[in-house]
Amino acid sequence: MIYLDNAATSGYKPEAVIRSVSNALRALSANPGRSGHNLSVSAAEAVYKVRERLSDFFGATGPERVIFTGNCTQAVNFVLKGVLNANDGLIISNLEHNAVARPAFSLREKGVKVSVFDGFAKDPTQELNNLITKDTKLIFCTHVSNVCGKIIDIAKIGALCKKHGILFGVDAAQSGGVLPINMKEMGIDFLCLAPHKGLFAPMGTGVLIAEKQISKTVIEGGTGTASLSLAQPEDLPERLESGTINLPGICGIGAGVDFLLQKGRENILRHEAALCQKLYDDLKGNSGITVFGNGNFINEYAPLLSVSISGVKSDEVAALLDRKGIAVRGGYHCAPLAHKAMGTVNGGTVRIAPGINNCVWDIEQVKRALFSISNKKY
Ligand code: PMP
Repeated sequence: MIYLDNAATSGYKPEAVIRSVSNALRALSANPGRSGHNLSVSAAEAVYKVRERLSDFFGATGPERVIFTGNCTQAVNFVLKGVLNANDGLIISNLEHNAVARPAFSLREKGVKVSVFDGFAKDPTQELNNLITKDTKLIFCTHVSNVCGKIIDIAKIGALCKKHGILFGVDAAQSGGVLPINMKEMGIDFLCLAPHKGLFAPMGTGVLIAEKQISKTVIEGGTGTASLSLAQPEDLPERLESGTINLPGICGIGAGVDFLLQKGRENILRHEAALCQKLYDDLKGNSGITVFGNGNFINEYAPLLSVSISGVKSDEVAALLDRKGIAVRGGYHCAPLAHKAMGTVNGGTVRIAPGINNCVWDIEQVKRALFSISNKKY
């Protein structure tokens, strides 16, 4: 099978990640931070080391800022619902995944004033300057569109937020481990990650790095600290980490970061971008195939490519590719505003997302398959 659905989750999980997960299950199966016995302490130390690695990797101020969640969606919900109150202003982009768009629009029902900027703009700060009001409390946007790969210039937005004293949150589900991210340098207050993608970790893992306090909690419960108190602890990470955490998954995240450091994030990015570039160039000349984006990978687009074929619905194209042993995602990609902006509400797109272990031959196969579907030769 040719797996080209790495934007949904990385198909390749490194041997070191698998070993780390299985070692956690085999030798570290004690609840971290709960009981005081040796194994529980060792488990807590292992978790702490992963917090340190993530804090270093993403330029945060310290390991206590790193909160483990069940996925990126939970991390986003913790931020949006934790910092916004009625009459506060929230600005998001039109490229948001439903992980951001749905909580944002449900908060609108509760009186939060939501406005939307164009994530396709070369310099989004021009529009943001007009959208910012005295009520604007948070700008929250995706770094990379999961539909078409468009990169939003988060460093520019971070600088603007600092200038205006506005909080800044980033959905880095598609970019964490793929593009360079330094929270301190980019002025990011809240970073939400999907380690099961760019960090090669198991699914069911998520990370929130919070540089600022989150006043309201979405989930309260046992933290292993201040056990006699009926109040949720104020301190991070405990404030947002109630209940038993996913120790095997967290160990997998740590091994994933190590793998990335060893291989070199830039090397992986260059490899995936070169594959996208080849596919983009090969498909561009075919009049029956629409290729989204401008082919400027790394600088303007992350390495994933959306295409559509005239006369064939995108979910049908994906099903036809699946019959040929090629795994992609077709149809709609949980990002209604992005589909509207791209003009793909009618039919969606076929998203092709190469990963570290894909090669030129894989791209050749998908190109040929798309050509024959375009020529109605199934
Ligand atoms: N944001 C973006 C841009 C995404 O692509 C995704 C995953 N499809 C998410 C958020 C949600 O990530 P998770 O599935 O880990 O909650």
